Amino acid sequence: KVRVRFAPSPTGGLHLGGVRTALFNYLFAKKHKGDFVLRIEDTDQTRYVEGAEDYILDCLKWCGITPDESPLVGGHYAPYRQSERKSIYREYAERLVAQGHAYYAFDTPEELDHARKEIPNFQYGQVYRDTLRNSLSLKTAEVEHLLDNGVPHVIRIKIPADESVRFHDMIRGDVSFETNLVDDKVLLKADGMPTYHLAVVVDDYLMKITHAFRGEEWLPSAPIHILLWKYLGWEAEMPQWAHLPLILKPDGHGKLSKRDGARLGFPVYAMNWLDAKTGELTPGFRELGFLPEAFVNLLAMLGWNAGTDQEIFTIEELIENFSIERISKAGAKFDFEKAKWYNAEWIKKTDAGSLMPEVKAVLEDKGITVADDDYLVTVINTVKDRCTLLADFYQQAGYFFQIPAEYDLNAVKPKWSDTKTLFFSELMTRFDEAEVWEAMQLEIIFKYLTEEKALKIGDVMLPFRIMLVGGKFGPHVFDIAALLGKEETVKRIEAALT
Ligand code: GLU
Repeated sequence: KVRVRFAPSPTGGLHLGGVRTALFNYLFAKKHKGDFVLRIEDTDQTRYVEGAEDYILDCLKWCGITPDESPLVGGHYAPYRQSERKSIYREYAERLVAQGHAYYAFDTPEELDHARKEIPNFQYGQVYRDTLRNSLSLKTAEVEHLLDNGVPHVIRIKIPADESVRFHDMIRGDVSFETNLVDDKVLLKADGMPTYHLAVVVDDYLMKITHAFRGEEWLPSAPIHILLWKYLGWEAEMPQWAHLPLILKPDGHGKLSKRDGARLGFPVYAMNWLDAKTGELTPGFRELGFLPEAFVNLLAMLGWNAGTDQEIFTIEELIENFSIERISKAGAKFDFEKAKWYNAEWIKKTDAGSLMPEVKAVLEDKGITVADDDYLVTVINTVKDRCTLLADFYQQAGYFFQIPAEYDLNAVKPKWSDTKTLFFSELMTRFDEAEVWEAMQLEIIFKYLTEEKALKIGDVMLPFRIMLVGGKFGPHVFDIAALLGKEETVKRIEAALT
């Protein structure tokens, strides 16, 4: 059975790349009738951020990505929070030591800091490896003595020299890394907590993960993981790897970073992220007025395509069409204008009844009370093709509920004349007398009167629109009048004239 995992670390809000990783895992699992596991990788207590786990859960929920197993719903392989699994990992680290694939290291953080400053290219294993491995040259008795005396130590993997680690990546094909460029990473920390490298391998094994989709930024860690799978004797059960292409800045120059949002004026987080510590708020797609369906759709197209012209997909259609072969190796440029296009398409596509609660919230947020839900649904149907973001419903639908607070008079003033005033006062009377209040009928009355007054229809149409909606926007003006009703239409003409 296919089993995948999304394994975020609770270090902050989820940005585009994070949610896309979750999505691709989910699509693949569901396509193969498999399980989607959410595992919280919180072993690095120094990077733990309050609220981040709840945010991750909320975010997946908003996107409609439902984990089959998670810290929230539990499951056969619980617990799904690594900090609660702390006691599991030591045994494996010790086993590696016994086999000679890992060792106790008594280096202190201070020594490492010092070495980092002193030694050029420190991060590349070999240079410092011999020093790190000081304990390997100690006699067993000495090591035991140190351990017995509680001298702080970590367990490090012993990366072999002069080897290449090869593996197959479902997206990138055959990949190979030189072990000489890989560090002796810590597996178990001094406090007994595993590091990410040990925990990810042990848990993927224990949770019977079959396929691992993760961001390309994890590729350099892959050789460490592959060696661990091998040393622990689990090679046959190792998941198949898929390192997803990077999401790039709009200009294609480099990875899209969390900071780019603020700099370039668009969100990179799924939902608003409020950092409790700094009080800093990072805006999200949800609050900006994206529909979750649109957000999921646009994420899926970042690095994947169906091989056809189709761009709009429901999540069910994505599941049906998803294939690893169509994930590109190259990074995917993020284009915010295109993202908005997806949302506009989704607003068009979604029926007014489903949009109603969201639109109502947008209007109420601006102090507009909606008394009649059916009326709101009709309004939404009339204007939704003109909205890109949910927030646009304020401009596009607000005037159906309240008389415009301001008129864009500049748009009419230069062309204003007494004849026009006369035209509109007469129009009020004619409208008042109208027996059928219906768009086509209103248009006939309007046209007839322009002819009578020898006016050009174009000269009075725009002023009429502005009287009703306040500006140069909105659907067909007689549709607006029909929806507003007789009383309200006449009232607005009157209000504008005085
Ligand atoms: N905990 C890692 C992260 O924060 C997971 C990487 C992986 O999937 O192996 O993304």
